[in-house]
Amino acid sequence: MTTAPIVSRLAVIGAGLIGGSVARAAKAAGAAKTVVVTDRSPEARKRVREIGGDFADVVAETSAEAVKDADLVVVAVPVGACGDVAKEIADHLKPGAILSDVGSVKTSVARDMAPFVPKGVHFIPAHPVAGTENSGPDAGFPELFVNRWCILTPVEGTDPAATEKLKAFWERIGAKVEAMTPEHHDLVLAITSHLPHLIAYTIVGTADELGEVTESEVLKFSAGGFRDFTRIAASDPTMWRDVFLHNKDAVLEMLGTFMEDLTRLTRAMRRGDGDALFEHFSRTRAIRRGIVSMGQDSAAPDFGRKHGPLPIAPIARPYASDDD
Ligand code: NAP
Repeated sequence: MTTAPIVSRLAVIGAGLIGGSVARAAKAAGAAKTVVVTDRSPEARKRVREIGGDFADVVAETSAEAVKDADLVVVAVPVGACGDVAKEIADHLKPGAILSDVGSVKTSVARDMAPFVPKGVHFIPAHPVAGTENSGPDAGFPELFVNRWCILTPVEGTDPAATEKLKAFWERIGAKVEAMTPEHHDLVLAITSHLPHLIAYTIVGTADELGEVTESEVLKFSAGGFRDFTRIAASDPTMWRDVFLHNKDAVLEMLGTFMEDLTRLTRAMRRGDGDALFEHFSRTRAIRRGIVSMGQDSAAPDFGRKHGPLPIAPIARPYASDDD
């Protein structure tokens, strides 16, 4: 197996969860000889410097400075800001460089960035389907992309060698890579990621609005399903605002289908149609098992969360004999 770097100089713009993970992973896996990181906020740049060589070799003051001589530029900012960043770096990109991003929406990012891409620069949008609810320079970690998918959305006419290089980069940092059109990406992600986030944001907000009487009970008994919704609903507000504004059409289409299915389940419940409920829940259980068997999630119950020990000695069994 070759361990030669995939690119000589990698520039990452945005030192948050995803940019920070790309930079750390590139350093840990030797995917780039030099990793340059920048962020618009001085505090974030300071924090990257403090974290040091595991994060970046060079911390640049501006995006324009960061991309100078870079072979691969990864823009890791909220999707609504990608166009502005492309405009800012356009005149500073090296001919032959690959310009990519990590945005959760692809059609609008491709539309917003493409007009600024100079001739001779290979623009290949990408989306690593991996993340957590945390953000900022301390949130990233090098293993984030291991065994996760990274979707590339090259446009027609993209140099295949550049696409291969970007694929090799993502594979080096642990991801599995697939290519599709930006429109298809946005439709798939609308149902697998964006709609679940919308539902989580809604349900946690609804529980909150139930008011004083139940508020403490919501927190106290926040077990199982609700607790998992609160984790998703803790995701970065800026990032998710941008996702819903920029993938509006696909999310609204999926939301329409979801509402129809919800109405169907509500009707089954109202009519006492247990068979319909059972059939539906059996189908969804099979989907979960499919996700686990494809290695996309842990098979451990409750996502492998640790449970504390019993606080007291086992309860005495009055009818047990001493020698059983
Ligand atoms: P994050 O941790 O909040 O980091 C976002 C970064 O973008 C920060 O460095 C932030 O700078 C910078 N930024 C924010 N607004 C900006 C603007 N207007 N101009 C320039 N820079 C700006 O977010 P993240 O989770 O890494 O998300 C980054 C991208 O990855 C987004 O496009 C998101 O859709 C995508 N993504 C996220 C996940 C996930 O689960 N979180 C998964 C896959 C892809 P400051 O330091 O000033 O805030």
